[in-house]
Amino acid sequence: MKNTAGPVLFAGHGSPMNAIGKNRARDGWQQLGKKLPKPRVIIAVSAHWQTSGICVRTAPDNPQIYDMYGFPDELYRVHYEPAGSPADAKKALALLGASAREDNTWGIDHGVWSVLSNIFPAADVPVVMVSVDGQAGAGELYEAGRKLAALRDDGAMIFASGNVVHNLRLVDWNMTDGYGWAKAFDSTIRDAVLTGDHGRVLHFDGLENSSLAVPTSEHFLPLPAALGAVTEKDRPSVFNEYCELGSMSMTSYLFC
Ligand code: ZN
Repeated sequence: MKNTAGPVLFAGHGSPMNAIGKNRARDGWQQLGKKLPKPRVIIAVSAHWQTSGICVRTAPDNPQIYDMYGFPDELYRVHYEPAGSPADAKKALALLGASAREDNTWGIDHGVWSVLSNIFPAADVPVVMVSVDGQAGAGELYEAGRKLAALRDDGAMIFASGNVVHNLRLVDWNMTDGYGWAKAFDSTIRDAVLTGDHGRVLHFDGLENSSLAVPTSEHFLPLPAALGAVTEKDRPSVFNEYCELGSMSMTSYLFC
């Protein structure tokens, strides 16, 4: 049977500089934009909006946040402010239930705008921002994604932005590739995602190299959120599969 639900996307965003200029990540995002039908609305789960409990932005706008420091001026000139969707935000809140609340103190952060400004550059698809509960485990994010999946039947794309491997302390700005342990961990997760072994992803902290790859969980947790929204009708595909800066994986997944 044809899958008519909106897609689920997990994107590795990496350095904010990936938003501009010529680079592999941006090429992958732009190519995806050419083939992906425009969704009615995007539900965006961002590693860069960390809260206690899950928050949903319900305002009709998304002020752009330049939540990165010390980068070239060019990056701060990227303008991307798609509308919000109060109606979809209210639906998301209702689906998430008691674990979530309304919060309009955040806007669209670089984890989201760096990617979406290259997939849907016209900024004509409304975005509903959803936070990552910094205290939650992977299972709770997976459950949140499962609840949000109902929105897919109403033309929503579930978009989760983070990085499978993200160790800022070990970043080497001169490396275009990844350390061996980073590539190994990334491959382990890739195999689990592509074979539908979500349990292995949820128990990532028991995998080899996890303490190096995921020293803090906020960039990893959007992946369980995305997987939770996946159904048996979806087929996974992988893109931007590489590591950069030594300790960052850009590997991204589309389910549709
Ligand atoms: Zn980030």
